[in-house]
Amino acid sequence: MPGVGKTHDVVVVGGGPAGLTAGIYASRSGLGTVILEKMAPGGQAATTFAIENYPGFPGGVDGPGLMAAMEEQARRFGTEIVLDEAVSVRAQAGDYVIDTTGGQVRSRTVIIATGTRERPLGVPGETELRGRGVSYCATCDGAFFKDKKVAVVGGGDSAITEALFLSRVASMVTVVHRRDALRANKHLQDRAFSNQRISFAWNSVVTAIEGKDRVEGIRLRDVKSGETTLIEADGVFVYVGFLPNTAFLTGVVNLDASGYVITDNMLRTSAPGIFAAGDARVKELRQVVTAAADGAVAAVSAERYLMGVS
Ligand code: NAP
Repeated sequence: MPGVGKTHDVVVVGGGPAGLTAGIYASRSGLGTVILEKMAPGGQAATTFAIENYPGFPGGVDGPGLMAAMEEQARRFGTEIVLDEAVSVRAQAGDYVIDTTGGQVRSRTVIIATGTRERPLGVPGETELRGRGVSYCATCDGAFFKDKKVAVVGGGDSAITEALFLSRVASMVTVVHRRDALRANKHLQDRAFSNQRISFAWNSVVTAIEGKDRVEGIRLRDVKSGETTLIEADGVFVYVGFLPNTAFLTGVVNLDASGYVITDNMLRTSAPGIFAAGDARVKELRQVVTAAADGAVAAVSAERYLMGVS
């Protein structure tokens, strides 16, 4: 592992937009900065087909492209990116020691930017058929469903953004939502309602995903009438919210009842020298732009802490 035996100024856990922006700000301020990333830099934004509301891109920007540019910018200022997963954080002699899948890193400050992961539906067939028609990433898997029927479960921004994306390849997209009104923003709703290839199963929950070797259909229950139906589908894309990647922080910093990290307005956690940025913290608006903003604030807070002025 790079930097073994060394005490870094800042270790950022997570390499999505919050973590990469923290890296840009911290390393540009001359702080020795390492980002720990368990998969590949970019986070969920890198699996988003089009980001239309990140400022500076009037025509929209592709998620992988935007995140590759953030990574390049962080590296340019000297941020080191290590592909290991943090498994625990503990205080030791005024610093923090982070155990990772690749060894141990020591740092004077830590910025938590671990984001969230997809919430599963928790119905029969979901785990068994994952990768065989059940997907959580339309950008990654949508192309497999050219001219096929797919269902998208959920009614938020993610579900509708991805339903719109899938409508370009699939022959029919059915959005399954447990209520009769979408949570997604009005702009997305308008586009979905006027899209000929998107239909809606309102007031419906998925009770099972059916299929032998591949998804063949989904079983729905109408929450008002109790009636059950089976609809044909070759693919099911699940977008029913997210869970925070914070299990490794239990007992280290204060978390809310859902596991999100509690911070103050300078993104300080309950542990001095540990900060949190992006989707993993308690906040109202989870967007790429707010994650990036958090990364900047957390890096400045870490810098002030190191200077002894926070
Ligand atoms: P979300 O806003 O939490 O929406 C989750 C959706 O899933 C809701 O419609 C919810 O229904 C439904 N749901 C939750 N649990 C369910 C269950 N067990 N069974 C069936 N349905 C269930 O999640 P999201 O859409 O992934 O968005 C997460 C954050 O990312 C939001 O802050 C969003 O604004 C942001 N985001 C933004 C964009 C964009 O701006 N283009 C794109 C993607 C995501 P109810 O509505 O009934 O609660």
